[in-house]
Amino acid sequence: MYWENELETLNRIDLEKLQVKRLKQTIQSAMNSQYYKDLYRQLGLSADSVNSVGDLQKLPFTNKQNLRDNFPYGFLGLPQRDLIRLHSTSGTTGNPTVIFHNRHDIDSWANLMARSLYCAGIRDTDVFQNICGYGLFTGGLGFQYGIERLGCLSIPAGAGNSPRQIKLMRDYGTTVAHAIPSYLSRLYEVFQEEGLDPRKDTKLRTFVIGAEPHTEEQRRRIEEMFGVKAYNSFGLTEMNGPGVAFECTFQNGLHIWEDSYLVEIINPDTLEPVADGEIGELVMTTLDRQAMPLIRYRTRDVTTLVSEQCACGRTLRRIRRIGRRSDDMFIIRGVNVFPSQVETALLRVEGTLPHYQIILTREVGLDQMEVQVEVTPEVFSDEIRKLETLQQQLGASIENVLGIRVKVTLVGPRSLARSEGKAKRVTDLRNV
Ligand code: AMP
Ligand code: ZN
Repeated sequence: MYWENELETLNRIDLEKLQVKRLKQTIQSAMNSQYYKDLYRQLGLSADSVNSVGDLQKLPFTNKQNLRDNFPYGFLGLPQRDLIRLHSTSGTTGNPTVIFHNRHDIDSWANLMARSLYCAGIRDTDVFQNICGYGLFTGGLGFQYGIERLGCLSIPAGAGNSPRQIKLMRDYGTTVAHAIPSYLSRLYEVFQEEGLDPRKDTKLRTFVIGAEPHTEEQRRRIEEMFGVKAYNSFGLTEMNGPGVAFECTFQNGLHIWEDSYLVEIINPDTLEPVADGEIGELVMTTLDRQAMPLIRYRTRDVTTLVSEQCACGRTLRRIRRIGRRSDDMFIIRGVNVFPSQVETALLRVEGTLPHYQIILTREVGLDQMEVQVEVTPEVFSDEIRKLETLQQQLGASIENVLGIRVKVTLVGPRSLARSEGKAKRVTDLRNV
């Protein structure tokens, strides 16, 4: 019935017992790292400080800046010879977020992924096409290991090249595909251009979509277009990547694998836990990771925890679909972007003022990003050719930093709205 019958249907008391046991082990391993050793000793904390799940609140939060400041090895709880893989985010400004794994971690992640896929009704009889970048990004290898663990025939297709994706689907009778939701509308267009209808001309029955926010309407549209069921998959590099929370076939929230992750929802301003069922920021603790345990990591993802039992019988709680973050990061075409990265790119080019605005739209299913930049009065009065050169330089600089092509529009001095308080850099028109 389940991938791991016992773990997925534990009663709350037994689950919490297991969580506390694993939390103690996690603290012990974490204290082998320079970062947690120094911090916990200074605060007089140790594995003995926690004897219940509630005791977690005695421990300090960990955030992205801590990871960056201790890059690359400050959080390592094991000697380097025990490590077998690293994954990292794509940050080209500042230190990337990097997570290390030993053999146990990779094995346990593969199991979580297999469990996730099983939970969405995928079986070893499926042909699974992973339309996702392989490499440092976690979606490629993370899924690959899970697909193999489950026993599907895997097609490690990688991202892009839609005609080839379609050919693979038709040649091998793909039944399941994993991709970011914004890509699937593009893929559908290519089906149409080729005079094909995915509902009739493929064997697709299931999609796994995730890695970026999307609405229920978008999901339903994807399901309609392809004639499939699409399941929401949530994860983040800091917690391995995919396989953190996944929808079951009832599609009513994402089960969190609570035997491997402790979850809390906090108010991002007061940092206090919110009342049961209230909206807040997701905070996570790894419970089954040896090389690089993270304790009370602030994900910045905003959601609600659902405690009611799910109709599938799993006792593990669910989170609601994630629609926004408590920081200013946004995701475009699967790439995480902080406005500060755009700013860094703009500042590398002379002739602009530090006033800019990012506008996100969705045109025929594909996300577009426009950066409007104010130029200095001197530049603004220059001839058109010089302005065009500047525009190109800015575009190239942004592409260099983010790895994606965006539209740059130059605007006159003082033409962008000024805000009284914190500058509002991003206007997201994708879901209006
Ligand atoms: P990365 O570490 O590059 O995989 O990015 C992780 C971030 O992507 C998360 O913290 C979320 O903000 C976002 N994300 C991942 N999966 C989903 C999802 N299913 N729905 C909404 N946002 C997601
Ligand atoms: Zn369920």
